[in-house]
Amino acid sequence: MPLTAFMNVFAGNPLDRASDRRLDPDWVAARLTDPDSLALAVWNGKVLVEKGKDAKSQIAYVRADLARELSGGAERLLFMGLWKQTAVFAVDLEGALDPADGPLEGLGRFEDLRMIALNLPEPDAAILATAKAMFEWRRRHRHCAVCGHASEPADGGWKRVCPSCKAEHFPRTDPVVIMLATHGEKCLLGRQAVWPKGMFSALAGFLEPGENIEEACARELNEEAGLNATRVRYHSTQPWPYPSSLMIGLIAEVDSEDAAPDQTELEEVRWFTRDEARDLIKGTLAGVTAPGKVAIAHQLIKAWSEGWDG
Ligand SMILES: [Zn+2]
Repeated sequence: MPLTAFMNVFAGNPLDRASDRRLDPDWVAARLTDPDSLALAVWNGKVLVEKGKDAKSQIAYVRADLARELSGGAERLLFMGLWKQTAVFAVDLEGALDPADGPLEGLGRFEDLRMIALNLPEPDAAILATAKAMFEWRRRHRHCAVCGHASEPADGGWKRVCPSCKAEHFPRTDPVVIMLATHGEKCLLGRQAVWPKGMFSALAGFLEPGENIEEACARELNEEAGLNATRVRYHSTQPWPYPSSLMIGLIAEVDSEDAAPDQTELEEVRWFTRDEARDLIKGTLAGVTAPGKVAIAHQLIKAWSEGWDG
């Protein structure tokens, strides 16, 4: 039976992560030199894509041995997993010169993942999001968090080990609660001063240690809008590689419409009827816009406007 779940953009990576095989460095090394193995490329956080079918983009895979050559060593390589029998790697490239104008010329172009996400097949967007999140973690965690010594990659890049104190470090995922507050037939959205004029979105904040998801949701609604949550329901989650979040999408009933922005994170909050929310999602509500389909906030507003009931 396939998994039944609402899949946001960046979820649904179809690769077999082969987490048992990647523990074997000899097996990983052999896959890396296998002429059938493939690699995707990331350069300064951008991803290598090429034109696909129907004018869409798709991952521009390169040979794994070329990725290995460009990587300069294991530090910048990641074993992504298996696609059927084919091993898939990723390489993290840096520097001022665009590799698509150099060693990767003719193989594709580097694009901002968020900008092209909706123009990619969903599995490709999820695979690239995985690689991006892993490389963001790698760039930010090159030293042991216990003793400060430079750490080294292990398990195909899925772990870092400190050669000095032997501590092991694993990739981070930082949970963020994002919630649509509702009261009867209205939902609440807020806007930050830095956003484009007229843009409203769901309220959000990091889950803090010692909180469960419902408590974090209730605290954020109280802090940012002065609301009291009485019921919190889970809608879906979304891997969000900026740099390493998991967006936890919630719909939260509150006990009044007496809302006020905190003026720190939010400059304005506003209630929308279901009809207005539907128009907002369609892009036809005058003077107001919501995040696009790539964002889980869009999916929360859409679901509620269509009568989602858990
Ligand atoms: Zn250490």
